[in-house]
Amino acid sequence: RKWAQMGLLQQTMDVFDDVGYEKPTSIQCQAIPIAESGMDLIGVAKTGSGKTLAFGIPMIRHVLDQRPLKSADGPIVLILAPTRELSLQIVAELKPFLKASNLKIACAYGGPPISEQIAMIKRGGIHVLCATPGRLIDLLQSNSGRVLSFKRITYVVLDEADRMFDMGFEPQVMKILANIRPDRQAILFSATFPKNMAALARKALTKPAEVII
Ligand code: AMP
Repeated sequence: RKWAQMGLLQQTMDVFDDVGYEKPTSIQCQAIPIAESGMDLIGVAKTGSGKTLAFGIPMIRHVLDQRPLKSADGPIVLILAPTRELSLQIVAELKPFLKASNLKIACAYGGPPISEQIAMIKRGGIHVLCATPGRLIDLLQSNSGRVLSFKRITYVVLDEADRMFDMGFEPQVMKILANIRPDRQAILFSATFPKNMAALARKALTKPAEVII
């Protein structure tokens, strides 16, 4: 398959030319049309398969289809990732594509002072927030005013869900999901799909399609 056969936005196609990704990977071929149709999705695929763009390309169209952000509005997309390293990797990978559509992404992970991340979020205009579960809970509970609004979130990604599970983040992930409107679109990516992840998947997703690479 070729990118040109996938009906993507012209500004997205232009970035593929710039970065030199000649054709979609297997997970991208299968997952992008499903996610662009608005369906929930479970993708079983490892790092290196191209999974970031498998959820990232449909994400851009999703955001562009929504009402523009008002200044006090929170993000439209939430990406949950297990570690700071993965969050930074996701942001680096998505940035050129977001930039081509004039969309803004921000990152929130443990380590740096939370005050910096609060200030960044308060400045507003962030379409996509990529966060680790622990820091996101801290931001939600932060008492320096209502920092983070989940009202506008309509696209949720759980990336490397098995690692979030192994790291004991399940309660935090469940709590975060409980604060997001139930009619959201949700996408879960995981390198493996252990039996004990079924409860999380049931909570996170509605009638998901499955793509296994
Ligand atoms: P990921 O599985 O998302 O961690 O992606 C692995 C790496 O593959 C990333 O560093 C991307 O830069 C690269 N990549 C993603 N999609 C493609 C593609 N269609 N063609 C070539 N490289 C790609």
